[in-house]
Amino acid sequence: MLVRLLLWLIVGFLVYTVFQAIKQALLKPPAPPPEKTSRGEEMVQDPECGTYVPRSDAIKLQSKGATRYFCSSECRDKYQRRS
Ligand SMILES: [Zn+2]
Repeated sequence: MLVRLLLWLIVGFLVYTVFQAIKQALLKPPAPPPEKTSRGEEMVQDPECGTYVPRSDAIKLQSKGATRYFCSSECRDKYQRRS
């Protein structure tokens, strides 16, 4: 009887996992953001507005041991004020 219970638990877990995977796939935006520009430059995301900018054009900010990149000084200031 205990084996049967375990089996149902495993089946339930698998169904749950598959369901979560489908949900994730449906929620995901269709196209991933570009990781490199046409010049082969790395793209970085502005955590304030979500825009992707080439690393050399981005405004850098050292925050909590990590480097953050922003599309403009306005975004950097907004981010600094929030944290
Ligand atoms: Zn921005």
